[in-house]
Amino acid sequence: MDILECDLQWQIKRYKQLIEITETLHSSLDVENLLDELCVTLKELYPDSSFSLLLSQDTYSHNELPIIELEYDSENIAAIKAYGSGEIQFEYSATGDHAIIYAPLKGRKVTYGVLQVVAATAVEFHEFEVEFISLLASAAGSSLENAYLHQQSKQEIFNLQLINETSHCLNSNLRLADTMTYMSEQIISSIDAQEVGFFLFTNEHVKVKILPGSTPYFYTPQAQIYIDYLKRKIERERNPLFIGDFTLQNIKNTPRFHSILAVPMIHSEKLKGFSIVMHQKPYFFSFDTFKLLQSLIHHSSLALTNSMLREELEHMIITDHLTKLYSRKFLDERIQGSMKESGEGTFILLDIDNFKEINDTYGHQVGDQVLVQVANLIKNNIRGEDIGARWGGEELALYLPGVPLDKGAAVAERLVKKIAESSEPHITVSCGVSYWNKEQVDAYNYLFKRADEALYIAKGTGKNKVVIQKQNIRVS
Ligand code: GH3
Ligand code: MG
Ligand code: MG
Repeated sequence: MDILECDLQWQIKRYKQLIEITETLHSSLDVENLLDELCVTLKELYPDSSFSLLLSQDTYSHNELPIIELEYDSENIAAIKAYGSGEIQFEYSATGDHAIIYAPLKGRKVTYGVLQVVAATAVEFHEFEVEFISLLASAAGSSLENAYLHQQSKQEIFNLQLINETSHCLNSNLRLADTMTYMSEQIISSIDAQEVGFFLFTNEHVKVKILPGSTPYFYTPQAQIYIDYLKRKIERERNPLFIGDFTLQNIKNTPRFHSILAVPMIHSEKLKGFSIVMHQKPYFFSFDTFKLLQSLIHHSSLALTNSMLREELEHMIITDHLTKLYSRKFLDERIQGSMKESGEGTFILLDIDNFKEINDTYGHQVGDQVLVQVANLIKNNIRGEDIGARWGGEELALYLPGVPLDKGAAVAERLVKKIAESSEPHITVSCGVSYWNKEQVDAYNYLFKRADEALYIAKGTGKNKVVIQKQNIRVS
């Protein structure tokens, strides 16, 4: 074999290698894997040289392959030239002991960076080697392009799905709390946020209301400083905020959150509230994440406002206009819910004695005032989870979830006593008390019926008293 033939053989072998490498690179749609492949290949092909990748895109890190962000400075002239012109560039050290080649990683549309090969032993590159590196860089460039585009479209599909699912959920008549919790979970899982909060401006814009779904941190005093700062800024500027390294002076605040995204919720051109997403690491969120959060909030503002309005409206319906006690409908729902969830509960039906006489003597308006007095006494004598309701007309009702019969009856006795003592004009009331627990088969209708029957007995036996359900009324 003469030298020429030997050279030819070698070149054929190199081209075969190139075809294999190109195939491998092209088959990888994952940027990380692709860079791995490229690293292995370069080491095999040029064991005596060193390499770097100068990338223009968001920088990736790689264990073995030094990936450097392509910067426009005077030290990088050859690299920048290769990147800008798409042509291969050379650099020779002044001492003449090494040569550097810069091969652009060209895709179909853009150049993604530059492959730098430093040949420590060669002073000059062989013409064939230049051609080879240039082809290899092109193959790497177009593979990178594929992988980037693939990753981008995957991300976009994911984002669209997320926005779609969230809108769907928001429009599906869920309770506000469920909706917000869902949104919060979506944000935490899709962008790796540590804290997510939703805030609503109150009418006076003095304080903000923390909406359900916000992570517990926002209810702590330490969070207030972030909330206040962002509230003021959003109120003033009305723009979304993308903060990479947030620092508050003179604040001994642990944990400290450096990465912050804040997006205003605007509906019908009115600033309704805002959302905050935070992470302790600086520069944790990418700009794409920021855009995604904006889309999410933008798409959900309308549904959120609707759902808040709906709940306000519902609250109006669930409260009785005159007494401001809950409506019967609301009480019904709560009792039915409690009979599924709690272990026991006491129901009290309360009726004003001889109310007709009050109306006849003092007029309807005073009658109304008496009703309000009784309602207020009820409200002041129950705990947060108890429900006082207007059952209808001059009949009021009380439901005490999780309360045993003796305690419930004591509440009724106390009320009867207080009303008789403090009402003006003087009135008395009668109560029928019923009780359920998990040990016996029961139903809401029967619970009410037992209280009604007990009340009937109270009325028939002198009024101004409490009568407890007859044991034998219970249904088994
Ligand atoms: P009893 O001790 O048997 O309960 O006698 P009563 O007069 O309270 O009972 P009755 O059911 O005969 O009358 C209830 C009265 O309550 C009739 C109605 O005019 C009055 N009433 C019902 N709702 C209201 C209301 O919203 N405001 C006023 N002022 N009166 C009401
Ligand atoms: Mg009545
Ligand atoms: Mg009455």
